[in-house]
Amino acid sequence: EHQKLIRNFSIVAHIDHGKSTLADRILEMTDTVAKRDMKDQLLDNMDLERERGITIKLNAVELQYHAKDGHTYEFHLIDTPGHVDFSYEVSRSLAACEGAILVVDAAQGVEAQTLANVYLALDDNLEIIPIINKIDLPSAEPEKVRKEIEDVIGIDAEDAVLTSAKNGIGIEEMLEQIVQKVPAPTGDLNAPLQALIFDSVYDEYRGVVLSVRVFEGTVQPGDRITLMNSNTTYEVTEVGVNSPKPIKRDYLMAGDVGYLTASIKDITDTRVGDTVTNAKDPADKALPGYREMAPMVYAGLYPSDNAKFNDLREALEKLKLNDAALEYEPESSQALGFGFRCGFLGMLHMDVVQERLEREFNLDLITTAPSVTYRVNQTDDTVLMVENPSEMPEVSAIKTIEEPYVKASIMVPNEYVGAVMELCQHKRGQFQTMDYLDDYRVNVIYKMPLSEIIYDFFDKLKSSTRGYASLDYEIADYEPSDLVKIDILLNSDKVDALSFISHREFAEKRGREIASKLKKIIPRQNFEIPVQAAIGAKIIARTTIKAYRKDVTSKIHTGDPDRRAKLLEKQKRGKKRMKSVGTVDIPQEAFMAVLQTD
Ligand code: GDP
Ligand code: MG
Repeated sequence: EHQKLIRNFSIVAHIDHGKSTLADRILEMTDTVAKRDMKDQLLDNMDLERERGITIKLNAVELQYHAKDGHTYEFHLIDTPGHVDFSYEVSRSLAACEGAILVVDAAQGVEAQTLANVYLALDDNLEIIPIINKIDLPSAEPEKVRKEIEDVIGIDAEDAVLTSAKNGIGIEEMLEQIVQKVPAPTGDLNAPLQALIFDSVYDEYRGVVLSVRVFEGTVQPGDRITLMNSNTTYEVTEVGVNSPKPIKRDYLMAGDVGYLTASIKDITDTRVGDTVTNAKDPADKALPGYREMAPMVYAGLYPSDNAKFNDLREALEKLKLNDAALEYEPESSQALGFGFRCGFLGMLHMDVVQERLEREFNLDLITTAPSVTYRVNQTDDTVLMVENPSEMPEVSAIKTIEEPYVKASIMVPNEYVGAVMELCQHKRGQFQTMDYLDDYRVNVIYKMPLSEIIYDFFDKLKSSTRGYASLDYEIADYEPSDLVKIDILLNSDKVDALSFISHREFAEKRGREIASKLKKIIPRQNFEIPVQAAIGAKIIARTTIKAYRKDVTSKIHTGDPDRRAKLLEKQKRGKKRMKSVGTVDIPQEAFMAVLQTD
């Protein structure tokens, strides 16, 4: 029967090892996309993904493969991101599949996220099919990588297909292995419906579009369905698959990966990880769903224009449907007004959220400096979790402050171990272990404060190892640290949104650095602006933004109309991502400056 001809698999790998390009070749080879519609990394369909050349969202497509055994198989392929900030997309994709293609770059070998993704796939008991890609590169060493996959990951790589996604080598052999090795889905077509929601997106016309993997039963338009955890009932309006354009189907059945709409307008009812079942004859229990992701960093998100607060709330609700890892709750700041405290999985995630909110919802936003969550043991014996530095209690109320530490795993060629250790040490890291991956590369494990690695650690790591190091990390525990809050005063007013936490040892130096950075970043006004850094009442640094000498805006009223329009346009662009605090305009960079270290 039909189920036997279905194969559900994800493509996983370290970033840049060629997942999306392999997906391109698969789409081409199976004639899923016409030649004239083909473009590189076709499944990276968000503007942001194309501009940055990275995959941010999982993307599920259905395709038909005519195998050598004479049967036509229905493949559901899910392309996934490789960056550590988006691993939640990977784990959700894997839960919808029976198999995972593990792509390893023939020149780079096994990297930190290769391992991290393998562990995710093993957690879900998936069949892992290793592929060695980019064999066209002069520096490719496929046999060395084959051994590395066996030694480091511990999976059999004897049959690993050698591919060049770029030149279309090995693609058919890979597809044949998918047919042979990935188990067909099981599931009873006559059982009550159980479908896992692994993603969702808001559509103005159709309401919420759910991406589902059906595990038991069938679903078709007209069915009354219940979302089990939110306990809400709807009538299905449409089901279908993406190929990669949406194609309507009469029904979806156990084993299928597709989409479902049911005129769901109340966004807060839908949760990724929830189970869809029949309203009348429901399943006994919901599918296991997903572990909630705990954000790594928090930052304030504020509309540049205070009147846009409600627009921002609506935008966040809608974006959350498509970004299950995003968390938010309202907060207010004396300096910035009303906004949201948002939780992110890392800096790239934060950056992507800000960009998507601005592009997809036409907002102009300011994000404050990201902060980790501190655990404050207070003198009254209560414990306070502080996600916003400005909410750090008075020094007299604090017994100790603890901060989150991560276990960082850094894979790097031998010759850079010294540089890596120096960097980690400088970031308050504690050396744990070092394992040899092979004769050339090691895996160095450090325990480090999360606050030291969220901002520019990865960039520094890359530049001190000529791009050869790869990094993965996971939260380990909380440890006490000697931390202080530093406040920034502009024009003698404390700007709460610029407060940050620093290790006491570096506090004065950081205070001075930041005061001088702000002096460069904050535009001059027609009056002097003193910039101060303070710990409590003690001023630790002071500088002044000079007044500008000439009124440049007066020029706008003279020149010809063309020039004037251009100037106004330029001024408007300059105003983007800028927030007026009292009489001072603070640009976005100022909020990030408190994180930069030299
Ligand atoms: P992903 O991050 O794993 O999705 O990787 P992409 O598919 O976006 O590819 C990353 C880069 O590697 C792109 O510049 C691709 O053109 C390139 N690439 C992918 N596959 C191959 C290959 O087989 N050979 C070569 N030489 N380059 C490849
Ligand atoms: Mg990709």
